[in-house]
Amino acid sequence: MSEALVSKIEALKAEHNAVILAHYYAPGDVQDVADYVGDSLGLSRTAATTEADVIVFSGVHFMAETAAILSPEKKVIMPDACAGCPMADMITAEKLAQFKAENPGAVVVTYVNSAADIKALSDICCTSSNAVNVVRTIPEDKDILFVPDQNLGSYVSKVLGRKMIMWKGFCPTHQNVLPEHVLKAREEHPDALFAVHPECRPAVVELADFVGSTTGIINFCAESDADKFIIGTENGVFHKLKKDNPDKEFFLASPVLECPNMKKNTLEKLAWCLEDMKPLITVDPEIARKAKAPIERMLEVAGSGGK
Ligand code: SF4
Repeated sequence: MSEALVSKIEALKAEHNAVILAHYYAPGDVQDVADYVGDSLGLSRTAATTEADVIVFSGVHFMAETAAILSPEKKVIMPDACAGCPMADMITAEKLAQFKAENPGAVVVTYVNSAADIKALSDICCTSSNAVNVVRTIPEDKDILFVPDQNLGSYVSKVLGRKMIMWKGFCPTHQNVLPEHVLKAREEHPDALFAVHPECRPAVVELADFVGSTTGIINFCAESDADKFIIGTENGVFHKLKKDNPDKEFFLASPVLECPNMKKNTLEKLAWCLEDMKPLITVDPEIARKAKAPIERMLEVAGSGGK
């Protein structure tokens, strides 16, 4: 890591009273300069309560948008505004409006991995940390539309034994993990436990010893007596896992587990965006007003709920 670059980032951060938030999938050197590193739920909570004037969001676009919605009085910037999320792009406001019209009276539960205009059409948001608990809050006699991640929806549906109508979106990074990748990793590391994110396809989730959000996986590995783990989520999480558990071994379930968008958050771009105070992430005020309510409902529901 360039010491000069880190010093520059620290100085700019102080000058602008900025806070750096980084997702666990961001590169390790960016996680190291962040004030807070977390998953979507933790980052949303921090964005809602920070005292800073500027939020620098080292993640993907929908995360920075969520921060802008929760803290409209603050300036939200990100190292690379082109860091998007293909899953979020798998649904549009027009298509969701049509989906709702086809299922009148249904409650729309929206994974936070979605654009602001999708959240604005939703009843409640969820993250992978609290999806099970969010769905539990919905009365049994209500139909549920779960968007946009069919894999997370399938997992929640199975845990709760509750039918939901899914949008057929997915995260390409997690979807590309196949059962044969996991079986091969198990063969190579027979005494390792397999911890998986519910964004993976159901046939992969079936093979797991533990299913949970990124934070859930981190906590599971730290608390487990086992010392070897096969990890079924994005490789950025290895930075935290190895830091917290120097005596344990971690193996990636498949080399495909790298999100190219998260990796756009380089240290250099982080310094540039602090220097220039851009790219600025803004949300149309009317959409932001409508999107805030389902996000706030989500923040009232506790995390966890994974297996
Ligand atoms: S890991 Fe998947 S869901 Fe997360 S930002 Fe990347 S593409 Fe989107």
